[in-house]
Amino acid sequence: MPGFELFGKEERKEVNDVLETGILMRYGFDGPRNGIWKAKELEEAICETFECKHAQLLSSGTAALTTAMCALGIGYGDEVILPAFTFVASFEAILSVGAIPVFVDVDDSLTLAPQAVRNAITDKTKCIMPVHMCGGMADMDALQAICKDHNLLLLEDACQSIGGTYKGKKLGSIGDAGTFSFDFVKTITCAEGGVVITNREDIYLASDGYTDHGHNHKGVDRGADLHPFIGYNFRISELHAAVGLAQIKKLDTFLAIQKKNHAVLKNALAAIPEISFRRIPDESGDSYTFLSWFLPTEQATKAVVEELKTQNILAGNFYWFNNNWHYISKWDHLKNSVTLNGLHPELKAAVIHHATKDFTASDAIMSRCVSTAISLAWTEAQLKTKGEQIVNVINKVLQEQKI
Ligand SMILES: *Cc1c(COP(=O)(O)O)cnc(C)c1O
Repeated sequence: MPGFELFGKEERKEVNDVLETGILMRYGFDGPRNGIWKAKELEEAICETFECKHAQLLSSGTAALTTAMCALGIGYGDEVILPAFTFVASFEAILSVGAIPVFVDVDDSLTLAPQAVRNAITDKTKCIMPVHMCGGMADMDALQAICKDHNLLLLEDACQSIGGTYKGKKLGSIGDAGTFSFDFVKTITCAEGGVVITNREDIYLASDGYTDHGHNHKGVDRGADLHPFIGYNFRISELHAAVGLAQIKKLDTFLAIQKKNHAVLKNALAAIPEISFRRIPDESGDSYTFLSWFLPTEQATKAVVEELKTQNILAGNFYWFNNNWHYISKWDHLKNSVTLNGLHPELKAAVIHHATKDFTASDAIMSRCVSTAISLAWTEAQLKTKGEQIVNVINKVLQEQKI
């Protein structure tokens, strides 16, 4: 899965270009930088690769979500609908703009259940934020229809599905805005970084200014820039952008390896009739970073995870249901609304209300799901062994539990 597995001389070369000039900042210093503009170059490559009009690089995927929400005008009193299965960054970003995260159930696609989204809409709802988890994607036709019916914004958290598509369109480019993370474990990495992509010029210009203290980047130099609104500093450095530039050129290779390895592993597991697989709304658009599979019961799933641990082969297999980072059941800090800064009492109450609702429908899915990360580095022999080991563990448990 992660691009860091294939880090090499290409990344070193791009970083060295920047080190030669010593200009580590993405803006200004036009003379001494000697024509080296890695962040700009990477933004152009992102627009081309992901078929979108605009890209604003920044310091992380979390910053990208915050920035996109600011650019979309989401804030005080607004509700943003998101799935109960995601990474903590998704709700952190909503809280960072003072809006209310409204969690709803996921279905067997491991993404937003469209009917649950419909049921959660109120007159405060401003935005639907699907999270394309684990390399796959949400049901975008259904979500777009809901947005149209209720005049809502659509913001795609595509941080985990770089290079995936839905009905021919690149994930992240379908909604009003989309975000990728280029942190160290994502499909392509900058070490740390992220991007807001959009086809809307207003969203792009707002993102460009917001990530650099509101600078409009129209002055003859930084001191002459105007500040049409208050911004923040979420800039990416040239060193980070340089790594990303080398990585994006390898994306097609990464995706091809993932697809191949995913197919081999899926084939191995499909031999067990009791195993089912995560539903992918557009199968051909999967980015294949994970193979997500279901056992018939929670009890069997827990036993499989235990047995993988006992045999020392759990690494790379994720049981999200028990995971502190990705599923609502373990987000106690959120459920108690523990923040360092004081929240408005109404927001605090709303956060607690929405985080402690009933998620039995999601539990029923997540408690039976294991996701196996697809490595870029596996040899054919390692891949074969991996498949055999998992199959053996599953068969052992199914037999023990007489399923
Ligand atoms: C990684 C990730 C993010 C945040 O990205 P960072 O660059 O680590 O801040 C946001 N959403 C999802 C779903 C992610 O997986």
